[in-house]
Amino acid sequence: MMHTPVLEEQRRATLARALNLALDKRRQSVAEFPDWEAMRQRAHDIRAGALDRLDEYLNQFERAAAANGIRVVRVATAEEACLYVVAIAKRIGVTTAVKSKSMVTEEIHLNRALETEGIRAMETDLGEYIAQLCGQPPFHLTAPIVHLSRDEVGRILADKLGVPFTNDPTQLTLIARDAMRREFLTARLGISGANFCVAETGSLVLVTNEGNGRMCTTLPAKEGPRVHVAITGIEKVVPALKDVAHLLRLLARSGSGMRLTAYTTLINGPRKRAAGEETTGPDEVHVLLLDNGRRAMLRDPHLREALCCIRCGACSNTCPVYHRIGGHAYQSVYNGPIGSVWSAALWDTEQAATLPFVSSLCGACADICPVKIDIHHALLWQRKLAADRGYTPRWQRLVWWAWRVAMSHPALYGFGSIVARRLFSPAILNRLGKPWTETRDLPPLARKSFHEMWKEEAPK
Ligand code: SF4
Repeated sequence: MMHTPVLEEQRRATLARALNLALDKRRQSVAEFPDWEAMRQRAHDIRAGALDRLDEYLNQFERAAAANGIRVVRVATAEEACLYVVAIAKRIGVTTAVKSKSMVTEEIHLNRALETEGIRAMETDLGEYIAQLCGQPPFHLTAPIVHLSRDEVGRILADKLGVPFTNDPTQLTLIARDAMRREFLTARLGISGANFCVAETGSLVLVTNEGNGRMCTTLPAKEGPRVHVAITGIEKVVPALKDVAHLLRLLARSGSGMRLTAYTTLINGPRKRAAGEETTGPDEVHVLLLDNGRRAMLRDPHLREALCCIRCGACSNTCPVYHRIGGHAYQSVYNGPIGSVWSAALWDTEQAATLPFVSSLCGACADICPVKIDIHHALLWQRKLAADRGYTPRWQRLVWWAWRVAMSHPALYGFGSIVARRLFSPAILNRLGKPWTETRDLPPLARKSFHEMWKEEAPK
């Protein structure tokens, strides 16, 4: 069973400030809509309806995108997706790619695959860029360096780029922008994800707050072929543009409290080359629709809903466990409550399978989710699957078996609770509870059970 360390105090304070600010802004933003609950329900219906007819919408998207000049490819595994991108990079002869923020590319470890082939993938989302500079995975679904202070960011840039130290946010942004601009202007391979794929029009929808998504997909280089590759999960398809309009109203509000992300980009194909048409833009656009375990999730009625996720990050913002341990403790690219559901579904490893236990099951995640995913029940289901697969330790299964037997035999339960209260002092309990009790104390057992108190005090 995985042991999740708590964050050190200062880091936890930085994280709490950022997450609480996002939650406050979300509350204000959501208050603008008296019918927020109805909006959530509609968002749920759009996403669930798209999943119910997934193949139909994927085929429609494929046809419409092809008519726009986009090449759509279905890829079953992470390896297949990486090989495809590497092959493109080799064909057009590039050693650098510019990359917009994409959790799917983190999922398939694309950067590592490219690096192995001598191709450098440069992250261009500011947070991702800094995380890449210091060799860290993203800390949060939408805010990759939410745990770092301004001072820390300043020190990273000074150390890695050899610039004078500053902790002024504007100066920090300008330093990163200067480093990125040169790459944007010469890059011939742009890599992105897609927030949505629109079946009706064959469009890709990208949302960013920095405009880097547009820079990565416009590719203004003067020489040689220019290619944009978008990699996204099959679940990202939605029927029509009007559905995107609705989902966008909930996405940024839920994650950061913004009414809308600063840039919403619709990509409808490569540069049109006829005389007098577009002068900038890629010569080719490829869309990789990735399965990598998603169809198995679709077949499981308890996990299917998790595919509705629009990656707003609100469930992490509100999760008391995430507040305490932070994103890196999950040791998975998908962290937080929904990340635990996804990780356990995508990767059959002990580490991933036990992530759903890193939850208090308080239900705050389900309450905040803009597409009404029943996250804590999905976590419970994943716990059952972990136990079925033998990922829970033998001692734990034994304890639960004993608990079940005792609970179904009241006399045995009563006798057991008397014995336990005599045997287990707080010191023994804390020793038995390690490593959980290394950072907290278990309360002493009550001197009297509820039944005993009831017998004494209940009105006759
Ligand atoms: S599960 Fe819901 S709250 Fe969490 S990231 Fe996905 S859409 Fe947002």
